[in-house]
Amino acid sequence: MFNIEETDSANTPHYFKKFTIAVFGDSGVGKSSIVRLLVSQEHITKHEPTVEDFYVKYMTHRNKAYEIHIIDTSGTYEFPAMRRIAMEKADAAVLVYSLDKPNSFSKLDRYMEEITKCCDDRNRKIPVIIVSNKSDLPNLSEPTFYNSYGLKISICVHLEVKWKCLWLATSAKFNLNVDTIFNKLLDKLNPQGSAPRKKASFIRQILR
Ligand code: GDP
Ligand code: MG
Repeated sequence: MFNIEETDSANTPHYFKKFTIAVFGDSGVGKSSIVRLLVSQEHITKHEPTVEDFYVKYMTHRNKAYEIHIIDTSGTYEFPAMRRIAMEKADAAVLVYSLDKPNSFSKLDRYMEEITKCCDDRNRKIPVIIVSNKSDLPNLSEPTFYNSYGLKISICVHLEVKWKCLWLATSAKFNLNVDTIFNKLLDKLNPQGSAPRKKASFIRQILR
């Protein structure tokens, strides 16, 4: 854990924020693997269905200290009340799918609808990142999308336009991009501390 008192050194985190991040997605897509990797750097090989697990992670990002509360939810629809509570508590959400479970991508619609409703009820918006996990699996490709002009667009652009959310491909098996999920969300949650934003791509604007 950080010693928050020691703020003299230029390399020591100089302030401290608490955020709750909830992780949603279909069963078996790798939610618990991602969360466990983040909190303990261990990859889990066995799928043990989760009801709901809660973790606390202390981390620094851009020289600021954070206490991150992570809610790892169940991937089944059996627990709508628990899911709703997790959405209410969340300052940011991670929605996970994996290409070996094609239904897990279509189920994102329902999670997004629930998150949007919950945010509307509370009159607030939360950043959402959609994660395509198991990117290590060979011979699987992301779904294809076209814009209103019939031009092919990447999934990243499609999701940004559809839901204004971030997108990232990860592999919990090889610890690929897992930290980036949380770093990107922290940049959204604490924009003062983030790197200067690049100007929106001209091409991306045209593709909309
Ligand atoms: P959850 O139900 O979404 O929490 O999924 P789990 O984290 O329990 O993972 C389900 C299964 O997928 C386990 O057997 C994991 O080892 C496996 N798994 C998780 N992430 C990856 C990954 O990035 N690549 C591969 N190949 N397998 C993964
Ligand atoms: Mg799980």
